[in-house]
Amino acid sequence: MISVFGSANMDLVAYTARAPQRGETVAGRAFATIPGGKGANQATAAALAGADVAFFGAVGDDAFGPVLRRGLEAAGVDVRGLRTVAGSSGIAQIVVDDDGSNSIIVVPGANGAVTGASADDLEVIGRSDALLLQLELPMAAVVATARAAGAPVVLTPSPVQELPGELLDAVTLIVPNEHEARAITGLADPEEALGALLERVPEAVVTLGSEGALYGSRAGERLHVPAVPVRAVDTTAAGDTFVGALCVARAEGRSNAEALRFAATAAALSVQREGASTSMPARAEIDAALTA
Ligand code: ATP
Repeated sequence: MISVFGSANMDLVAYTARAPQRGETVAGRAFATIPGGKGANQATAAALAGADVAFFGAVGDDAFGPVLRRGLEAAGVDVRGLRTVAGSSGIAQIVVDDDGSNSIIVVPGANGAVTGASADDLEVIGRSDALLLQLELPMAAVVATARAAGAPVVLTPSPVQELPGELLDAVTLIVPNEHEARAITGLADPEEALGALLERVPEAVVTLGSEGALYGSRAGERLHVPAVPVRAVDTTAAGDTFVGALCVARAEGRSNAEALRFAATAAALSVQREGASTSMPARAEIDAALTA
């Protein structure tokens, strides 16, 4: 079983020829509401990839709360640990212009009210094969939950920020993309950044987009898994799909090489479709692509 303690957001996406300047109104072309948030994305990816998944977090008592809850339930995620709190759900207001550039305002809403896992949450987390954390909840809540987890902690350090030592001390596996790896270590070369990360945590994966991913462990294992060559149409949530699938395969006892290949295959399927949760593959699809 996989536990995820993290954010749930509603992405409010307006598509327009060009983003408005300050004080300006422009006509938009289309609008979409898409469930997102790195926590909910990773929970959805892991559930679709075949694991029992429990999600812990919060939504608001607004119109988006029930939609976010139902979206997770539809993917098979156990949402008994998803609280409803007074106020707005987390939202990301996104303007996408015709060049494909984004401007984004993230309002944490209910995510900002999360203080830490409850005793009941921790009982479930402690029985899990892994606890997946990201950095879209208040850092104090992330640190407290990591330290109390009693299960291997897998950290996606996004959005990137200063990582307290007491958090890293509780992490088994850290999975930054190459930009986050550079920001954390100050090293531009991904191999060197991987080495520096391993001075702080036992295992690390640096994802490299269409270049694949690097894995390393303090025990001395080093792997490079190439990306599966596909025509990408939208890489949103490729990283979350990768992490969710990786943890499912590790929980099933697969070798690191096999688990990384499973994750790269799931992520490659996701980049061929639009959206976040809407692009994530089901287990049967991943298995079919692996044997193809
Ligand atoms: P995002 O922020 O878009 O969710 P990320 O920056 O966290 O993604 P990436 O390193 O871009 O993560 O991608 C994660 C994994 O997804 C890669 O290691 C790779 O396996 C797969 N992937 C990403 N882009 C592509 C692509 N264009 N073609 C095939 N696989 C891809």
